Amino acid sequence: MVPCYWETPMRESKMLPADESVSAKSVILPEASGAVQMFWQGAASGKLLVQRCQHCGHIWHPPSDVCGKCQSMNIDWVPASGKGVLYSYTKVQHAVHAAVQSWIPYILCMVELDEGTRILSLFDDAKAPPLIGKTVALRFQKMPEGLQLPIFFHD
Ligand SMILES: [Zn+2]
Repeated sequence: MVPCYWETPMRESKMLPADESVSAKSVILPEASGAVQMFWQGAASGKLLVQRCQHCGHIWHPPSDVCGKCQSMNIDWVPASGKGVLYSYTKVQHAVHAAVQSWIPYILCMVELDEGTRILSLFDDAKAPPLIGKTVALRFQKMPEGLQLPIFFHD
């Protein structure tokens, strides 16, 4: 008999690790290497950095080692204004990791920056609820380990 997915006992599931070292005090740290590292170094100093191709001028996010328009590897990092419009959002109601349990519910947003690229980030609805198409501003929130998270809001 060939086993199938539905015959797998739940206790053997690999979906959610039963790791007791992960708790609400845990912190999810960003990747500390490659192109992503520069983005988080910028955020730690209060700058929203995006990449710009020196060859064609294309600006993009998330970070990559190659321009998606012309495949040039001559890339600059430039500070974005943090201004833009709310392109989309969703309210997260279920914690997929113990480290974000205390955040529930929280809002993930997609912002179209004035520089022409989009960024996935957090949205703070303390001042105003999210409204697609409305302008946003940016602030950084201090986190453990020197991390600062970019958070958008309606100003
Ligand atoms: Zn390019």
